[in-house]
Amino acid sequence: MEEYIAELNDAQRAPVLQIDGPMIVIAGAGSGKTRVLTYRIAYLMHKGVDSFNILSLTFTNKAAREMKKRIASIVGPSEAKNLWMGTFHSIFAKILRFEADKLGYPSNFTIYDTQDSQRLIASIIKEMGLDKDIYKYKQVYSRISSYKNSLITVKAYFQNADLVEADAMAKRPRMGEIYEHYVDRCFKAGAMDFDDLLLKTNELLNRFPEVLAKYQNRFRYILVDEYQDTNHSQYLIVRALSDKFQNICVVGDDAQSIYAFRGANINNILNFQKDYDNVQQYRLEQNYRSTKNIVEAANSIIDKNKTKLDKVVWTANNDGPKIIVNRLITDGDEGRFVASSIFENQMQHQLGNGKFAILYRTNAQSRAIEDALRKRDIKYRIYGGLSFYQRKEIKDVLAYLRLVINPKDEEALKRVINYPARGIGGTTVDKLVVAANHYDRSIFEVIENLDRINLKINSGTKTRLENFITMIKSFQVTNETSDAFILAEVVAKKTGLLQELKKDGTPEGIARIENIEELLNGIRDFVEGQKEVADVRGSLAEFLEDVALATDLDQDTGDDDRVALMTIHLAKGLEFPYVYIVGMEEDLFPSGMSMNTRSELEEERRLFYVALTRAEKQAYLTYTQSRYRWGKLVDAEPSRFIEEIDEQYLEYMTPVDGYRYKPLIDSDIFGEVDKSKLRLKKPVTGAPPLAHKPTEEQLRKLRKLRPVTDGTTGENTTNLFDGDLIAGIAVEHMRFGRGKILKIEGVGQDRKAEILFEKGGMKKLLLRFAKLKII
Ligand code: ATP
Ligand code: MG
Repeated sequence: MEEYIAELNDAQRAPVLQIDGPMIVIAGAGSGKTRVLTYRIAYLMHKGVDSFNILSLTFTNKAAREMKKRIASIVGPSEAKNLWMGTFHSIFAKILRFEADKLGYPSNFTIYDTQDSQRLIASIIKEMGLDKDIYKYKQVYSRISSYKNSLITVKAYFQNADLVEADAMAKRPRMGEIYEHYVDRCFKAGAMDFDDLLLKTNELLNRFPEVLAKYQNRFRYILVDEYQDTNHSQYLIVRALSDKFQNICVVGDDAQSIYAFRGANINNILNFQKDYDNVQQYRLEQNYRSTKNIVEAANSIIDKNKTKLDKVVWTANNDGPKIIVNRLITDGDEGRFVASSIFENQMQHQLGNGKFAILYRTNAQSRAIEDALRKRDIKYRIYGGLSFYQRKEIKDVLAYLRLVINPKDEEALKRVINYPARGIGGTTVDKLVVAANHYDRSIFEVIENLDRINLKINSGTKTRLENFITMIKSFQVTNETSDAFILAEVVAKKTGLLQELKKDGTPEGIARIENIEELLNGIRDFVEGQKEVADVRGSLAEFLEDVALATDLDQDTGDDDRVALMTIHLAKGLEFPYVYIVGMEEDLFPSGMSMNTRSELEEERRLFYVALTRAEKQAYLTYTQSRYRWGKLVDAEPSRFIEEIDEQYLEYMTPVDGYRYKPLIDSDIFGEVDKSKLRLKKPVTGAPPLAHKPTEEQLRKLRKLRPVTDGTTGENTTNLFDGDLIAGIAVEHMRFGRGKILKIEGVGQDRKAEILFEKGGMKKLLLRFAKLKII
């Protein structure tokens, strides 16, 4: 253990070695917060705490898996096995299954994903005869979600005059009724939505003191990563569970709180001291992740926020290259620039794809980037957007499987009752829904009892409905005797799903069949995995739970080498050597929807801080002059965030006389460009902002670690318009070594040199990437 403790600095060691009591570690990006949690768990176990008594809550399940792996490498795999580690949703879904009966739910309850919830809300709006342009189902869904996360139940909603009034003012006076119907329908379908997993856990812990006591005694040590992004509902759960032993360790960074729009409450971190007695506060200041340029640039940004805790972040790492800023004409050019830059970096530094990440504000931005990466044959993976399990064909198979487990599942039933087509029309389904509401039963039960109710359904349809039910019941029998893989195979075949896609015959249809095969492979892996752990039949219910809670990051098996594309929100906690932040434009980032108030703008700025601090070695910021938004080509302005970075950390790719930027024209890579579209920006002037205002002591520390430079590093590297590079002179290249320039050609971004290297032979290099040293 000592050797592992030695892998921590003094500041990190302190919270690891403090076994008992409440503690909070507040620290900037890359300072080792997650590392502290990981080592702390290992240390607790080393000190004899049973792994069974430790609960650790992470932001993604992938993060939990990684932590577990690291802990296993320290304490041994069998020790680490029993640790309760995962996201709030996955941990409490498991607990709710144990305790479901207390809340009147079946233990096989379904978890509705966002799409299921939204579909249900849309159909409720329709059934109520409301105007769908006023009651937009997505908006209604997020209202309901925020009520739930603030623990506002239907009853509490109606008792809260302010809320009722606010919805009435927003011309949605029937919001509360929709909420009520939605909750009823979920309950009747034996389903919980994502927010219920937290809300119901709170209900469970509040209403049943013996259940609370049980889990308090069980989770004697609780650890929470990314505490700044917990919402009220999560906060209350942590609070309740840790109340008895108060062995609670939370880590976070107020500067990285980026989920306020989803109810995260930054006050949870700010008020932690008030919630527990004798809270130990720890601070970490040294960043191990990034270069000085990146750390200090990030400091200079976050300094613009008024609401923040004072923090120092410094690093002993190298200065590293400056942050490269580039302006492109269109999003297509932006994609091509990023792809070619990745390619150049790979060539220059011998790097695989996995070292690169491209981050954007909104998922829609990925398309142009993807096109460019594909053209260059660079392998990539998109996180977020439509995940594998959200594809239509996959959801269709899963809907059948869900029905097998929980026949009351209304959304699953509606999805597949007539898919593949079996002559059960929309009107019939509507009648079934009305009857189900009337008798307060599930649709499945209504169909089972068709003989006893008069539904005006013709006998042909009735037979078809009964056949459907019989089919599902036959699957249930299969499920009792076989494992999930066999069942899934039977379902794919017997329902006619595969035949339907085969009939289709288009490339898309074939791709869908392949996806279903992939799903079956996934189920087989799951079943095998379960058999390894214990001699049990891989249970379908558990597989479905894993699927329902899988976040997009969780699908990353990590074994293939791809460029990562994702929104900044998803990138929290991750790190990559090279990071491209694209779409640095006003209205896009900061988002046009988040510029109304100072606090919204500050959240966007924190988001930018998160983005930049993902980079270890080099960051790029790109923006375009015009971009398609909502189907229209609109002019774009560079993001204010670029200007907010202290200028000394930036390098503009194409500075031109008196103007700070010149648009990039690279006809080689980008094809012909319509020059009339180019518009030059006025130079930005003014003193560079102070990076931060350190105290005397901090200054001392900083000085000790960072030699004072006058900005000229002494490195005589070329920049783009360096006229010194001419044919005949001797140069040195980082990788190819010494050589002689034979020829210079092209202008601006295009400028290339033909160099004869002593060892590497002839090379043609783009000067803007080559970083040549004159010798
Ligand atoms: P974020 O705020 O982005 O979540 P974090 O504070 O959780 O960052 P970590 O991810 O734990 O930071 O650490 C950042 C990087 O620095 C990781 O690669 C980690 O392995 C490394 N690191 C942390 N502490 C040390 C240390 N004492 N010695 C060497 N490397 C370290
Ligand atoms: Mg972290």
